[in-house]
Amino acid sequence: MSTPPAPDLVLLNGKVTVTAGRKHRPHESEAIAIRSGRVLAVGANDDVAGLAGEATTVVDVEGRRVIPGLIDSHVHFVRAGVTWNDETRWERIHDLEEGLGLIRDAAQTRPFGTWIRVIGGWHPNQLTDRRGPTLEELDRVAPGHPVIVQNQYEWALLNTLGMQAMGVTSEVADAVGPVSLDRDGDGRPLGIVRGIASLRWLYAQLPVPSLEEQVESTVALSREFARFGITGVIDGGGINSGPDMYRAVSEARRRNQLRTRVRLMIHASGPGVEREEYETYLRDVHPLEGDASLQVIGLGEIVLYAIHDSTSRPPSLTREAREDLDWICARFAAARWPLQIHACRRETVDAILDCWEAVDREHPIRALRWGLVHAECLDPSTIERLRRLGAGALIPSLFRFEGDSLLDSCGAERMRTSPPLRAILNAGVPLGGGTDALRVASYLPFTALRWYTDGLSVSGQRTRDDANLLSREEALRAYTAAGAWFSFEEQSRGTLEPGRLADLAVLSGDYFSVPAEEIADLESELTLLGGEPVWCAPPFRGLATQVAGGPGHSSAS
Ligand SMILES: [Zn+2]
Repeated sequence: MSTPPAPDLVLLNGKVTVTAGRKHRPHESEAIAIRSGRVLAVGANDDVAGLAGEATTVVDVEGRRVIPGLIDSHVHFVRAGVTWNDETRWERIHDLEEGLGLIRDAAQTRPFGTWIRVIGGWHPNQLTDRRGPTLEELDRVAPGHPVIVQNQYEWALLNTLGMQAMGVTSEVADAVGPVSLDRDGDGRPLGIVRGIASLRWLYAQLPVPSLEEQVESTVALSREFARFGITGVIDGGGINSGPDMYRAVSEARRRNQLRTRVRLMIHASGPGVEREEYETYLRDVHPLEGDASLQVIGLGEIVLYAIHDSTSRPPSLTREAREDLDWICARFAAARWPLQIHACRRETVDAILDCWEAVDREHPIRALRWGLVHAECLDPSTIERLRRLGAGALIPSLFRFEGDSLLDSCGAERMRTSPPLRAILNAGVPLGGGTDALRVASYLPFTALRWYTDGLSVSGQRTRDDANLLSREEALRAYTAAGAWFSFEEQSRGTLEPGRLADLAVLSGDYFSVPAEEIADLESELTLLGGEPVWCAPPFRGLATQVAGGPGHSSAS
């Protein structure tokens, strides 16, 4: 008689959420045992403790909530990783003085003359001041550094040195062309640059970190994600991002330093080159064949630049654009690729669904798990069309940021069902949760989870009606198992059932019982990726050295 091998790690005295059920209470256990990176058993304390052998590390989590590792199913992780270490983040500030203080701190630690960047992730409405900074305020806190502060894709503010470094002075402003500037009565630029085209021009002027810096920066971002219990992401690429963008994340994976399972949706590097580049992808890239750390899972989110819309910018649905869309979807359906397309507006959604239904008659797409990204404007008829195609909706918590202005522009009546989360779940259409961070939104998963459950904008206005608030179980499911579905991994992660990868987070408070307003303050105190500690807060610091091998082993504290 041989006894089964003992677990490497056992967590006792927890509230372990094994699965986040859709309607019912989550399936919960007291303890979990992990061996060789996977869940060996979940169950009562005595039963799981009984599995431990001499070499098993046993940890008492003292009543803490344990959840499956979070999956942000729409986030621009790779692009943000390139510059993360150079950025100052305003996700958690409550007033302008706090934000300016962070810039002042950065000015004291960063070499004189280097850029200080706040690249999105915050909104003026989250501040008691209800406004962004002024040029004078930036000059005051960072007189010796060029500074850029960006608010979503609406505007960016440069300080005086920033304008000089960019060449945005009154003499050259007219010649700069794509840059849309606010000026004073004498034509002098005020430091404010508006619109997505101008912002893209600005990014192109910022210094690019070396590859080594990019790798370190990407690893640092994955560590930050682990701090909030995120163990997986679906990356949406980014506007005008070419193959170069993927060097740092590939190298971080090669060094076994990534603490996040990264799933890539890749797309063309710019408008006009889609067909040419996709021929190369179809020949050279094989989706879903990467390893457990990094893999390309499909084509998305900007598959065709012409139809890339926003709530305020319509797509260009010319005959040529529709032909390109048909060609792309038919070719990738024939090649059996998963595909996701960004669509904020109803006309974009309709055009895509018309295309998909036609393609589906020739090359059935049901098994490919296609998805619409954003899709806040879905209604019962478009949800039914998605359902029939076997497709899903990836709806990040963007209306947390945009809700205030949309209440003004679209009206409260329309916002009640935007996005129609309840109708999507009722139809059985897979719903992926996430953030769309890090330029247009905050990456913090618990602020997103709070939004799914309370529908409050950053300023605290309620936008959705009661029916369109998710229960905490439903929100967690959208942020775990549903995310895994989109990368065909619902059998390997997203829940903590025996046999699944041991990706989990031990939380600082009980997600299921803290008051609603405290959900956003939750963090992970211990995050495991494939059973290895990739984040250990003080109560669990000792663990990093006890569990051997794997990512984060040497530096997980
Ligand atoms: Zn996106």
